[in-house]
Amino acid sequence: MRFYSKYDRIEYVVIAKQHETVGTHRRTTRGLTAKFHNHYFDSEVAAKDLQWSEEDRKTVERHLLEHGDMGIHLYVATDKPKDAPIDTELQPLTRCIATVATADGSQLCGEPALDGKDLCEIHQKEFEAAMAGVEELKEEKV
Ligand SMILES: [Zn+2]
Repeated sequence: MRFYSKYDRIEYVVIAKQHETVGTHRRTTRGLTAKFHNHYFDSEVAAKDLQWSEEDRKTVERHLLEHGDMGIHLYVATDKPKDAPIDTELQPLTRCIATVATADGSQLCGEPALDGKDLCEIHQKEFEAAMAGVEELKEEKV
């Protein structure tokens, strides 16, 4: 689960590190902390990197979801506010691969593609219409 924070590099300590004494040994438990980088925290990535168990990951997610900051400056990444900085590292912008006829020949459309698609909104609609056998959209054919 991905989370977005308005504050970069914010850290939510879910379970604090603790010092415990076992016999004559003192040891430090590792604790659980959600560390945001570039405004984002991905619990799946953190779980892999930090070798969290599934229970650890769920504990962190639950902590963030129930946190008082949620909806104020902490969000599930899909609900991030419009003014959120663009996360180019994690979500590379895919450009539409449709070719558009121009006076000089043809060129790539280049508009931002829809999530998980190779085409922009307009060309995806044309593509779907074409696939459905609809012949209404004759201009700008893909
Ligand atoms: Zn396009």
